[in-house]
Amino acid sequence: MRRTITGYHRDEESHWVAELDCGHNQHVRHSPPWVVRPWVTTPAGRQSMLGTELDCRKCDRGEGTDRG
Ligand SMILES: [Zn+2]
Repeated sequence: MRRTITGYHRDEESHWVAELDCGHNQHVRHSPPWVVRPWVTTPAGRQSMLGTELDCRKCDRGEGTDRG
């Protein structure tokens, strides 16, 4: 299901995690060559992706939200 990015935080391993409007979190790693998301490595890049959509597999599976 397509969900909108509303914010970000970092996990305990310093990987970036996108916060989606459905209440789920999703890792947005940049680890080439498998996952190429250079935008996640800069503040301007992350800012530019706010409001865009990611495919939320947690919604597809009907999982509860990641945040209170
Ligand atoms: Zn979701």
